[in-house]
Formats: sequence, C-alpha cells, structure tokens
Amino acid sequence: MQFADRLNNVETSAIRELFKLLGKPGIISFAGGFPDSALFDTEGIREAVNAALTEEPGAALQYGATEGYQPLREQLATFMASKGSQGIAASDIIVTTGSQQALDLLGKTLISPGDKVIVEGPTFLATIQCFRLYGAQLISAPVDGQGVDPDRLEQLIKEHKPKFVYLIPTFGNPSGALLSLERRRRVLELAVKHNTLIVEDDPYGDLYFDAAPPPSLLALSVNVPGSRERLVHCGSLSKVLSPGLRVGWMLGPAELLGKATMCKQFSDAHTSTFSQSTAAMYLKAGRMPATLARVRAVYAERAMTMGNALRRELGDAIEFVQPQGGLFVWARLTGAREKLVDGSLLAKRAIDKGVAFVPGAPFYASNPDHATLRLSFATVGIEKIEEGIQRLAAAT
Ligand code: PMP
Repeated sequence: MQFADRLNNVETSAIRELFKLLGKPGIISFAGGFPDSALFDTEGIREAVNAALTEEPGAALQYGATEGYQPLREQLATFMASKGSQGIAASDIIVTTGSQQALDLLGKTLISPGDKVIVEGPTFLATIQCFRLYGAQLISAPVDGQGVDPDRLEQLIKEHKPKFVYLIPTFGNPSGALLSLERRRRVLELAVKHNTLIVEDDPYGDLYFDAAPPPSLLALSVNVPGSRERLVHCGSLSKVLSPGLRVGWMLGPAELLGKATMCKQFSDAHTSTFSQSTAAMYLKAGRMPATLARVRAVYAERAMTMGNALRRELGDAIEFVQPQGGLFVWARLTGAREKLVDGSLLAKRAIDKGVAFVPGAPFYASNPDHATLRLSFATVGIEKIEEGIQRLAAAT
C-alpha cells in the first residue's frame, strides 16, 4: 500500500505496546488516562436520554447544524459562565466530537507542514501525534509543578515564532501541573505582546480536590486587553460526565471557528445529535454540580492515598508534586539508594510484579526525561492503590 506522506511523521505510540500487556490477570493498572466508569451518573444520563427522546425526538435523531445543537451551545455558555467565563454567547461556541476533534480541527486549520508549534514538555500524547500528522515541528516548553515557565516560553516564542502555543494549564495530562495565577496572567500578556495564538486545552479544570483552581485563561482574558482575540479554549464533558458521549467544545476567534466549522463539515458533518441533546438535557436538569462534587471527592481520596503510599513505599527514590486535581500523579525517579532511574525499564519490571503505569518519555515532543512516569489513580480503589504502590516499590 502507498500511504500519504503525512503518515511518515507519526508512529503508533510506545504506550500502545504496553497496553497490550495490561490484559494479564491480576494486574493493578495505573496506566489508564480515563475516568472511572463506576462513577458515571448512569441514572442521570438515562433520564437525559429519555427527556431528549420525549421532548425533542426529531432533533435528537435528525442531522444537525455543524456548529452544534443550539440548546447545548446555550447550556455550555451557562456552564462556562458558572465557572467564571463571562460574556460568552452560545454562538461563540462550536460543539466538537470530544475535545480531541477540536485539536484535530486546529491542526487542519492552522498547521502547514513545517510550521512550528510550542507544546509543554511533557504534553498530551494524542496532541503530539495529531499535530505531527499535519506536519508540525513541535517545540517543548518546560513545565514544573506550577505549569509552563513563562520566561522560557517567551524565549521560545521569540526564537521560533510559532503558529500557536498549546497548553493544558489546569491539571495537565500527564504533568498534573496547575499553572499559577501569576503565570496565567503572564501567558496572556505574552499572547498580546508577541501576537501569538494560545490554545488552552481544559478537560480537567472541573476535577479539583480542595480549592478551585485559578480562573481559566479564557475567564482571565477579560482582564488582559487583546488576549481574548488570541485565545482558543477547548472544553470536554469526557472527564466529568462520560467520554462515550464524545461531547467537547471550542471557543476562539470567529474567523478561526468559521474555518474549523468548514473542516468539521467534511469530517463528521456534526457531533452526534443524540449525544448533544442528551448532554443538553443533562445540563438543563441541573445535575452537574452534584456529579462534580461526587467525582471530586472520590478522586481526591485516591490521589491522597497514592501520594501517601508513594512517599511511604518509595521515599527519596521518587519525587512528585501532590496533584490538586485531575487524574494523574507525574513522578520522577531520582536514583536514590541505587534504585532504578529509567521509567521504561521500571514499567517492564512493574508488569512482572503485577502493576502497570505509563513511562513518561513518550509524552515529550523533544528531549524526553527518561526518569519520569505517569500514574493514574482515577480507576483504582484505595486498597488496590496501596497494594499497587507496594508492588511498584518492589519493582524499583
Ligand atoms: N486533551 C487532553 C489533555 C486529554 O487528556 C484528553 C483525553 N485524554 C483530551 C484532550 C481528549 O478528550 P475528549 O476527546 O474525550 O474530550
């Protein structure tokens, strides 16, 4: 077969190979990147489905507008307002098939082969793959527990003049990092100062444990004149409600949304109207606050359990910032007491001991840190977390 040249830029990820091993019986898996299906509000979604089919069967089952189902766009505008993003109209939002499709549409509309895009190091693997498919040359901006370093980011923007900068400011995947308020302001100022488009990918912002995170870049942009025009924001119901619904959304400059909508037309015509009307009914029923409170409490306990177990079982052989939200602990092997320092090697040994996680190196578009790992606490109960971390310690 002769495939398109663009496929030369991507390969199936190393992580997929690891996932093949996860079927082994008895494995405790911290490898996933998804929410716990036991937490889905099945009853609430069933009611929303019934409401959609009873109240608007035509719309729920018919073709729909590419921009999205209007009642859902209205609900999403209200949802965004409840999270501090004021002044957003339904018409400012397009609904996408998961936020993954928003990333794909950004690739399609913005990236020509050879274009430079700045991403965080580490960043979401599917973003790396997706942008590379469009021929992007990715540049990594370093991240610490407080998110991307704005000084380094500014240097990289000046040096590379990127087409855009892609950030996951709130509980990043895989970094778990939370961009501080001060840094958020700096990022928005950089967008204006260097006339650079910033993409804020925010599927995890609602999953905070104690205090709410600082406002999203979108919410803050009202305070930094000129920044809203240079900002794209991607949201998703996947991590808080259900990834199977495939409901995400995107806000951004009208011209860009217009082009993205055109590309979406050729891609899937529109996001499933059945899913959209279900999501709209769910939001309208006012169930989201209780659902969020429930999942936050469960993930908070799991995150705390994992952090404590890591400190107790691995001590100075591992370092990490205790996550304040999201689904991940991002950790680094220090090599103390002659323990392993290679995440991939540890991943293999860990499988033999009956525990799985994802090594960190593939999450870097360049200069991978091989000592890193991503551990998800989201889908494992607290006793199993304790046991899994004991197995991990036995593998180091
Ligand atoms: N962005 C990030 C950072 C993610 O972690 C994910 C899901 N793993 C997505 C986007 C895509 O999510 P979805 O398409 O389900 O909205």
